[in-house]
Amino acid sequence: MSLRARLLGSYLLLLGVTLAVIAGALLLFLFAQPAPAAPTYQKLATIGRELVNELNLAGLSADTRPLLQRLAQGRLLAQLNDFAATNAVRLLGVNMDQQTVLFDTAEKFQRGDPLPLNRQAYALPLYLRRFLPVQSEPVFGSFTDADGSEWLFSGLIVIRQNQERNALLLADPRPPQTWDAVREQFRDNLARPLVQAGLVGVVIAVLLAAIISRNVARPLQQLGDAAAAVAAGDYNRRVPPGGPPEIRAVAEAFNDMSAQVSAARQAQHDFLANVSHDLKTPLTSIQGYSQAIMDGAAKDPAQAAAIIHEEAARLNRMVLQITELARLQAGQLPLQKQPVDMAALAAAVGQRLAIVAQEKGIALHIVTPPVPTISGDGDRLAQVVTNLVSNAIKYTPSGGQVWLRTQVNSGGVEIAVQDTGIGIPPEDLPRVFERFYQVDKTRGPRRGTGLGLAIAQEIVAAHGGRITATSAGPGQGTTFTVWLPAPQVSSASRGRSL
Ligand code: ADP
Repeated sequence: MSLRARLLGSYLLLLGVTLAVIAGALLLFLFAQPAPAAPTYQKLATIGRELVNELNLAGLSADTRPLLQRLAQGRLLAQLNDFAATNAVRLLGVNMDQQTVLFDTAEKFQRGDPLPLNRQAYALPLYLRRFLPVQSEPVFGSFTDADGSEWLFSGLIVIRQNQERNALLLADPRPPQTWDAVREQFRDNLARPLVQAGLVGVVIAVLLAAIISRNVARPLQQLGDAAAAVAAGDYNRRVPPGGPPEIRAVAEAFNDMSAQVSAARQAQHDFLANVSHDLKTPLTSIQGYSQAIMDGAAKDPAQAAAIIHEEAARLNRMVLQITELARLQAGQLPLQKQPVDMAALAAAVGQRLAIVAQEKGIALHIVTPPVPTISGDGDRLAQVVTNLVSNAIKYTPSGGQVWLRTQVNSGGVEIAVQDTGIGIPPEDLPRVFERFYQVDKTRGPRRGTGLGLAIAQEIVAAHGGRITATSAGPGQGTTFTVWLPAPQVSSASRGRSL
C-alpha cells in the first residue's frame, strides 16, 4: 500500500472516530436535556382550539364583565371542569398582571396562589393561529406545580376592555425524554451539519495525505536512489536536504556518511600508494647495493652492506609502526591507565634525549613545573613526548634551541615542544598528522617514516586529548602542543601542585 493510501486511510479513520465520538456525545447531551416542548404545545393548542369553539370564548372578549365575576357565578367553571375531564387536560386561569391563580381544574392551586410562569417563544402553526379570537394573544411556557413537577402550558391571554389581562391555560406534565425523541431531534437538527463537516474533513484529509506523502515520499525516494548509487560505488553522491526535519536529518546524516565513506576510500587509496612507495624506496636501494656487492662492482662493500643494513632497519621500523598504527586504530592496543605525573614524565624523556641534542649542538631547555596528575598510559604518553622532542631535535639545525614545557590549561595538562628549526609551511601544517606525510622528503634528514605524528595523534586521541602544531613558516621554528584532560583538576589539587 502506498504511503498516500496509508495516510489517507489513517486520516479517514481518525475523522470517522472523531465524528462518531461527537455524535455520541451530542446524543447523550440531548438525552440529558428536557424533552422538547413543541409537540406538547401543539397538542395543547389543538385542544385549545376546541375549547375556544366549545365555550365560544370568542364572544368572551365582547363581554364586559370581568372574568372573575363570571367565574364566581360557577357556571363557567363547571363548563371548564367538564372540558378538562373529557379532554384529559388541566385548565388554569391566571391573572397575568399579578401572576396569581384564578382557578385550577386539578385543584392543586387555590385562587390567589402565586404562580410564576416561564414564558417561552413558540410560533404556532398557521392553521391554529387562524382560530385565535380577536384581542387575544397566544402564550406558551412552563410552570412548576405545587408538588415540584414541571408542566407545559399553551394558552390565551384575553385582554379585556378594562385592560385586565387574564389567561386561560391548558397544561400537561412535561413528557419524559425518550430515545426516539432524541433520535428525531438529532436527525432533524444535527445530522446534516455533521455530515457536511465530515465531507469537508474528507476533502481536507485527501489534500493533506497528498501533500504530506509528496513531502515525505519524494525525499525518501531521493535518499533511496542515493543509497543505491553509493552501494554501486558512486561515493560522491549527495542528496539535497528537503522535506520534514526528521527526513532532512536523515539526508544530512546520509551526506555525512557518504562523505566519510568517500574520505575513507581516498585514505585507503593513499595509504596503499604510500605504503608501496615508501617500501619501494628502501627496497630498491637494498636491491641495488646487494647487486653491486654480488657483481663485485661495489667500491666499498662494507659501506654498501652498512647502507643495506640501515635501509633494512628502516623497513623494519616502518612495518612495526604500520602494525602499531593499525592496531591503535582498531582499538587492539588498550590503554593501561594509571595516574601519570606528566611533569616528571616529560622531564625524564627530556633528560634521555638531552645527549642527542647535545651531540647535535642544540640547547634543550626542560621547563617542567608540577602539574596535576592525569589518568593515562605512561608508556604510550612517553612515546608521544619522545617523538615530539626527537622531531624537534631532528628538524632543528645545530646551534638551535628546543624547549620542553609543561603547564595547566583549560582544565587539563599541556606539554609543549617548541623549536627554532626549519618550521612547517602553513599549507602543510594540517597534514603533518597524516600517515606517511612528510613535509618535503628532500629537505631535512631523510630518515623518517612519516608515521610518528600519526601514531602520536592516535595515542593522544585515545586519552581524550588533542595535539596541535603551529609554525610561523619555513625557518621560523615549530611548536607542537599536546593537551590532555585532567578530570581531577580542582582548585585544591591545583593549589597543591603549584
Ligand atoms: P617522520 O618520521 O618523518 O619524522 P613524523 O610523523 O614524526 O614523521 O613527522 C611528519 C613530518 O612532519 C616530518 O616528516 C616533518 O616534515 C614534519 N615535522 C615534524 N616535526 C617537525 C618539526 N619539529 N619541525 C619541522 N617539521 C616537522
